[in-house]
Amino acid sequence: MTRRAKILIAFILVVVVLLLVFEPWRIFRPIPESFDSKPVGIMGTDCELTVLADGREQAEKALKAAETALRSVEARMSLFLTASEVSRLNAADAGRFVSLSPMTVEVLLLSCHFDERTQGAFDVTHQPVLRLWRQGLKRGCEPTEPQLAAAREQTGWDKIELLADGAKKRIAGASVDLGGIAKGYGIDRAVKAMALAGAIGGLVNVGGDIRCFGQAGDGSCWTIDVRNPFNRETVFAKVSLAAGAVCTSGNYERYTEIASRRYSHIIDPRTGRPVDHVPSVTVVAPVAVTADAWATALSVLGADGLDLLPPGAGIEAMIVTGTPDEHKVHMTAGFRKLLIRGPNLPRTGTVDK
Ligand code: AMP
Ligand code: MG
Repeated sequence: MTRRAKILIAFILVVVVLLLVFEPWRIFRPIPESFDSKPVGIMGTDCELTVLADGREQAEKALKAAETALRSVEARMSLFLTASEVSRLNAADAGRFVSLSPMTVEVLLLSCHFDERTQGAFDVTHQPVLRLWRQGLKRGCEPTEPQLAAAREQTGWDKIELLADGAKKRIAGASVDLGGIAKGYGIDRAVKAMALAGAIGGLVNVGGDIRCFGQAGDGSCWTIDVRNPFNRETVFAKVSLAAGAVCTSGNYERYTEIASRRYSHIIDPRTGRPVDHVPSVTVVAPVAVTADAWATALSVLGADGLDLLPPGAGIEAMIVTGTPDEHKVHMTAGFRKLLIRGPNLPRTGTVDK
């Protein structure tokens, strides 16, 4: 080979390497931009959607797809819509087959799974007890012991037969409330819809329950605020996530107050009474349905429930127990690693699990 040929080959090799390293054609690709929407009237709470996409057209498609996914879960599973599948099941007579969509069957199966995993702390069949408390508290009084005992008789998965395409109740009074899991499920469906519509990254926030994926707005991780359970206007901790879900349950958001006593909207299936002394639980998990169900369950179980978290599943939690004057923050080692700020509550003792 001549010297000239050698120089030419070396030159071509250098050019190829430079092209591979610097990928100059990237400058012709559109830079992904961040777009937001705040659809109203979703699951009775605030909703905020963010997508990163190559241009407005693609972003709008992804935002619309996410909104449609959330609304379709609500239409099937809300207790506030009398035509929803869950309302139809709850109103059905004993032994009558109620046909359900694959989505509702999936959420019922997941609920059953979380009931087992949480040793009964997460139990969607406690709707008869939840309804009794809601009705009582609306009138300003607690249900009586005989009323509670009668409602508790109607709970349990043995009262409902789940089938591949529907369900049958074994007693007329059995009913379910998917309020502790449907939001997480809807968020997961919305994220899937965004990704399918071409979003490069995105975040779905429904009432403070969040899942993020892909590229964050500034190219780094997503930063998620955890609200102070004793003063919802302030942020108490910040976590940083590349992807995953962060769900918070607590009686600072939704509760009923009678004679200056707060009653949580979460029922302890072991006692049939609203939970007490667990103002806030935040769970991080790969998907929102898991984070949502565990946040509700840990509100029941308190710090002891951290021992039930399945190891190696990427589920991490932070639990605030106690009162505004005397409280503790308990967290798993994995949760502590995600913290970029806090927890900063006055008079706080932190307990690592
Ligand atoms: P979250 O805000 O996700 O903790 O959900 C609270 C909602 O879950 C309540 O409003 C009820 O609809 C429902 N719920 C209450 N207690 C329980 C429980 N022990 N297991 C499952 N769902 C529950
Ligand atoms: Mg929940």
